[in-house]
Amino acid sequence: MSNLVIFLGPPGAGKGTQAVTIAKEKNLAHISTGDMLREHVSNETELGKIAKTLLDEGKLVPDSLVIEMLQERLLSNDCVNGAILDGFPRTIAQAKSLDKISEEFKISKVIVFEADRDELIKRILNRGETSGRSDDTEKSVSVRLEVYENDTAPLIEYYEQRNLVSKINAVGEVENIYNLILKEFE
Ligand code: ADP
Repeated sequence: MSNLVIFLGPPGAGKGTQAVTIAKEKNLAHISTGDMLREHVSNETELGKIAKTLLDEGKLVPDSLVIEMLQERLLSNDCVNGAILDGFPRTIAQAKSLDKISEEFKISKVIVFEADRDELIKRILNRGETSGRSDDTEKSVSVRLEVYENDTAPLIEYYEQRNLVSKINAVGEVENIYNLILKEFE
């Protein structure tokens, strides 16, 4: 059975930045559903065509599409040792689908990244100046934060009931936050 570690938190909290280095250190695959969807958009696949407008507007891509994409990704060889899920699940329906495939994969922990709203907006708009991400705009950011509060934040309680949650303060030096996360793996 392989372990899944879920990185949960609002947009701009630094999940992706930390997931890259932690995945290397712990020999886990890094699965970012956002990155995968952006790749579909740039390759103009069927999924990419559906996802493009939703991504730009900061809205979620329909559960069924994202769930299918993730299930397929988990079959790859690089996931045998487990994976960090960065940006999935984002809804209760997605979380329930993950529970169903957990015969081969066990959710071992959920790291919740905490940062205040002003900090998140500042980071995303800064990133928007260099990232070229078409959803790092003021309009899309406020939608993304609202979607997070409504659809994704309830997952914290969902996993707290199973004692899987560790909350970390995601404001500070990248390296300090990295060390906080590593401690959760001990
Ligand atoms: P951020 O966390 O900064 O919003 P992501 O790269 O994780 O960035 O996600 C970017 C966008 O991709 C989301 O706003 C959404 O449109 C889409 N997306 C990513 N993951 C999911 C998911 N699990 N379910 C639905 N949509 C998703």
